[in-house]
Amino acid sequence: MDVLRKPAFSEAEETLDPFDWSDVRKLSHRMVDDSIDYLRDVRERPAWRKMPFEVKETFERPLPRSPMPLDEVYRQVSDNLMPYPMGNIHPRFWSWYMGSSNFTGALADFLAAVQGSNLGGGNHAAALMDVQVVNWCKEMMGFPASASGTLVSGGSMANLLALTVARNFKAGVNIREDGIGAIERPLRFYASDQVHSCHRKAVEALGLGNKSLRRVPTDAELRIDIAALRAAISEDRAAGFNPACLIATAGTVNTGSIDDLEALADLAAEEALWLHVDGCIGALLAIAPANAYRVSGITRADSVALDPHKWLHAPFEVGCVLVRDASAHRGAFAVTQEYLESTPRGLASGNWLYEYGLQTTRGFRALKVWMALLEHGVEKFGRLIDQNIAQARYLTSLIEQEPLLELVAPTSINIVCFRYKHDGIDEVGRKALNLEIMLRLQEEGIAVLSDTTVHGEHCLRVAVNNHRTRHEDLDMLIQETLRLGALLMP
Ligand SMILES: *Cc1c(COP(=O)(O)O)cnc(C)c1O
Repeated sequence: MDVLRKPAFSEAEETLDPFDWSDVRKLSHRMVDDSIDYLRDVRERPAWRKMPFEVKETFERPLPRSPMPLDEVYRQVSDNLMPYPMGNIHPRFWSWYMGSSNFTGALADFLAAVQGSNLGGGNHAAALMDVQVVNWCKEMMGFPASASGTLVSGGSMANLLALTVARNFKAGVNIREDGIGAIERPLRFYASDQVHSCHRKAVEALGLGNKSLRRVPTDAELRIDIAALRAAISEDRAAGFNPACLIATAGTVNTGSIDDLEALADLAAEEALWLHVDGCIGALLAIAPANAYRVSGITRADSVALDPHKWLHAPFEVGCVLVRDASAHRGAFAVTQEYLESTPRGLASGNWLYEYGLQTTRGFRALKVWMALLEHGVEKFGRLIDQNIAQARYLTSLIEQEPLLELVAPTSINIVCFRYKHDGIDEVGRKALNLEIMLRLQEEGIAVLSDTTVHGEHCLRVAVNNHRTRHEDLDMLIQETLRLGALLMP
């Protein structure tokens, strides 16, 4: 049996496993200790810091060809990477819209990587857990058990998958076989002018084109104007288009406004349109006792995109799409491949999870959501959402009391849009002043905000989506904004 011949020493096989596990054990424990200190002391560090040139330079080094002891590799990580993060785990990080992560989730990502499972499918525990987390998301949204769903990289992918299902379902032709060229009447999707940019990318990627997504004006509360939406739909029908899908936003990225989901569900039913809810920000309000009423209509949607890496604070990345009609969901993506056939028993006897999205190989993103939910229980996550909304309301009241500050949009949930005002400057000067305040807050390590323009008005934007933020952090933001405003515009 020549094939079973033991290799001679000179041709011994290599492996990536360490030569000595006890060395690696010691170093790994140190990494965990350092990580715990890092999180424990996050409040003591600046909210942001500039990377020195020497550090930046290290990221331009060429491909390493020979080995380096892991201790030294880790030293580079602790010196050059860990001190210069995006910063969203900091209690005074309020830019854009992210979660602030959590240590249990980080441990889960580690354990998931240790197991190294591929969640493309199969009969193994991680695949069952992935399905379980989707089922928990359905439960949180009040979706029936018969609905379908899948975990994806984030909200952008969740929205893309939902819009793909909606397109295929409403096209009136066999899109999968014949493509969009076979569509007789061009499809129209509708959303408010506050819709997230990922929807534009989605309709473009779906071959429908940016013009197929009609942006409908919003009212003073930044919610889609239902009368204008009705008018747009009938105008399109009269012009020979095929109105297919309403995209409601539960929590817009600019101001956190929530479209009237009940009214949109009524309209979708009346006009026979697919109702998709982009709930990347607000869908999880459904678990928050004091604020769930704001998204009560979400249970009537055909599909929902939600983002556990935002208000559940899972480490990046994890998003989720739910689709009420399970066969429409699977029908949009399922393919049977000779190399991925199910077997009556064994590993390949499980559910092929790759049939619910675009990826074949899928990472094990369920564990970080699963472990944190088990540890804290969903009710605590609901209370944390209420807490952020109460904090945003507190910040709003501080701004309202301060003559040098003004709100630029109504605070709906946890996003506050405001600016520093000064009688002596015009609009251009005011924008420059506020930008400068924002940059100084960041460069001095005080707080990280972003800016935006709402209905033509430039403003600073504070998104309190952070389980580490306290009231005193918001007090500090106001004090420092006033200090910088006075310094820049004496
Ligand atoms: C964040 C966000 C998205 C995109 O989600 P990602 O997780 O960043 O891909 C889409 N829509 C809204 C309303 C969002 O806030």
